[in-house]
Amino acid sequence: MHRRSFIQLNAGLLLSSPLVSDMLETIGSRSKPMEYEVYTCQIGKYSCKIIRDLMFTYLGKDYFINPSTEQVAQELMRYQQTPDNIPSPFIVMLLENGSEKILIDTGIGHSKEPILFRGNTYHFKGKLMEILTNEKVDPATISHVILTHLHPDHIGGVFNEAGKVNFPNAQFFLHEDEWNYWFSSRSANQSPLFKLFIEKNISPLSKQHLTLIKGKEAQILPAVTAIETPGHTPGQIALRIASEKDNMLYISDAFLHPLHIEHLDWQTNYDVDHELARASRMHLLQLANQENMQINAFHFKFPGIGRAEKSTNSWKWVYTT
Ligand SMILES: [Zn+2]
Repeated sequence: MHRRSFIQLNAGLLLSSPLVSDMLETIGSRSKPMEYEVYTCQIGKYSCKIIRDLMFTYLGKDYFINPSTEQVAQELMRYQQTPDNIPSPFIVMLLENGSEKILIDTGIGHSKEPILFRGNTYHFKGKLMEILTNEKVDPATISHVILTHLHPDHIGGVFNEAGKVNFPNAQFFLHEDEWNYWFSSRSANQSPLFKLFIEKNISPLSKQHLTLIKGKEAQILPAVTAIETPGHTPGQIALRIASEKDNMLYISDAFLHPLHIEHLDWQTNYDVDHELARASRMHLLQLANQENMQINAFHFKFPGIGRAEKSTNSWKWVYTT
C-alpha cells in the first residue's frame, strides 16, 4: 500500500537561484499553502514515511567528472535533465513500529546566516520539523536517529537554530570511521561549510546518547543493519531494512544519480575516494540483486525508490514508484 501526499508540488521549489532565501520565505508564508511531499509505504511491521526536506540543484560538472560534457548531456536527456540543472531532493526516512520511531538522516536544517557554497549563497530552510508536526509526529518521541554520514544535507536537522537538539530522547548512531575522519587532520582539506555543519550538529552530540557503529556490517536495531560503504565519505553507511518478508536497501549517497549505477566508471566530485566508492557501489548492487531488494536513494527523483536490474555487463536503474 502506497500513499503519496502532495501539497501543491511546484517546480519553483528548485533552488536554481543563487539567493534562495526570498523564494523559500515566500513559499513558507501564510498566503500560500506550505509545500512538501511525503511518501508512505510499509516494510513488514514498520510504516515508512519518506519525507522531502528540500529540493536542491546540482551541476553535471560536479556530479560526473570524467565523462565528456556531451556524453553527460546525452545520458541526462533520458532523465529529462541537463548538465546545468540536475534537481535533487534531500530526503529523510521515518520508520515507525509502536514506540520504535527511527529517523534516518535529518535533512539540511535551518541556517541562521546565508552560507557560501561553491560560489553561491544559500539560506537553507529545511522542512523536516514542519513536516513532522503536520504528520503529527512529536520529535520527542523519536527513539533512534541514524546518520548515514556527516555531510550537511544529512545532519543539518540534528540541532535547531537555538542550539537545542531536535530529538531529545533519541539514541544517535553513526559509524566510528566517519567520526574518526571528521575529527582528525585527515579532513583538514574539506570544505569549511562541511566543518561548520559538523561543529554545530555533531560536536555537541558527544554529550547526547551517541553510539558509534563498528565494523563492516552491524545489526544496530531489530530491523536495521548498517553496512559500511566507504568512498563517498570514509565511514558512510548503507542500511538494510528488513521486517517479515519485506526489505529495502537504503543507499544514502553511495550513488548520487541513476547514471552512477548505469556507468560504474563515472566518478563524482563529491566522493573522497573514487576506488573505494566504486567497490562500495558494486557491493551494494550485488547485495540488492542477491536479496531481491528495492533500493531507496537519497538524491534520486523523489521518493527515490526503484530497482537496479542486472544485464550481462551492466546495470540499469528502474524507478518503481
Ligand atoms: Zn547527500
